[in-house]
Amino acid sequence: MSCLRWFVGRCFDGRPAIRTQRRERMRRHVKRTEKVFHLVLCLAAGTAGAGLTAPKDEWAPLEIAGHTVAPGETARFWVDLANTVGASGRTLDALVVVTRGTRPGPTLCVIAGVHGDELNGVEIAHRIYAETKPEELSGTLIASPAVNMAGLRNGQRYLPDRRDLNRGFPGDPDGSLAARIAYHLFQGVLQHCNAVLDLHTGSGSRTNLPQIRTDLESAPALALARSFGVGIVLHGVGPSGSLRRSVLDAGVPAVIYEAGEPLRFEAGVIEQGVTGVRNVMAGLKMIEAKSERESSEVYRKTSWVRGGNSVGIFFPERELGARVRKGDLLGVVTDPVTEARVEIRSPRNGRIIGMAVPQFVLPGYGLFHIGYDPE
Ligand SMILES: [Zn+2]
Repeated sequence: MSCLRWFVGRCFDGRPAIRTQRRERMRRHVKRTEKVFHLVLCLAAGTAGAGLTAPKDEWAPLEIAGHTVAPGETARFWVDLANTVGASGRTLDALVVVTRGTRPGPTLCVIAGVHGDELNGVEIAHRIYAETKPEELSGTLIASPAVNMAGLRNGQRYLPDRRDLNRGFPGDPDGSLAARIAYHLFQGVLQHCNAVLDLHTGSGSRTNLPQIRTDLESAPALALARSFGVGIVLHGVGPSGSLRRSVLDAGVPAVIYEAGEPLRFEAGVIEQGVTGVRNVMAGLKMIEAKSERESSEVYRKTSWVRGGNSVGIFFPERELGARVRKGDLLGVVTDPVTEARVEIRSPRNGRIIGMAVPQFVLPGYGLFHIGYDPE
């Protein structure tokens, strides 16, 4: 049956036959599959979510944030993200390193230090731009190791005005400090990206098993997450105002890498992060390298196990990454005054993908982040 005949039959019959319904379901499935396949291919070719600027036919110098970077060049410069007047505002500048390959290709952005106390990403971004040579690169690498420089200098998650930069995107040139920095980062840097990797760690006194989070409903974002190859992918579009969500909303695939805990440089998760970024670059055909990616466990549902009303000294009984079953003992909170001992148990089968480090905890504190096995 031709498409036209199918269409006419569907329109004029009013009640399509079961065969027709089945055929339509199949057509939808094929179309969906083709779409996903096309997007994945686009990602592999580096054209998915063409960024906010269209790719150019010729491989010309890149104009970015008032700087010109020619093919074959690496440029390091400071970007005034707060649009300040006078030298005192320079404390809010961020370092941006642009490597323009000698051959055409996609633009990958590696952003770290949105939260100033999350250090692992700072070193991952640093190693990536330090090791990337323009003569070995197809496309462009844009890396910023610490976009919240004030937070990095002070060991603080937030900006000096106590705002969370990761709630300010896509930004406002006349808004709060967070909104202004987000605006200039988005307009000045992120608009050039075909794919974005945002590097984070656990917050507070918690640590995360290396993992990628993104919108699993977005085929290019899921393909990007899998190509990072760290082994664990979670569903999460990110809160309103987050960098990841704003970039996804602009039609560009974006993921966050969450690994380790704040205020430390952790060699293992830094190494895994560097490997992940290089896997993405290999997947986008930006570098010639053998991908070392692991196949991904995908968790669509996760939740935090909290300590209830317990107050006291917390020690875990299981390790980060452990596979657990419903009812397994995860940790214990002991009240040093009453000696009351509260056992924290897993509500479902799954895996510990994040957890609190040993500490004194207050009621309701999130102790274990569990990725649930599919039911
Ligand atoms: Zn963070």
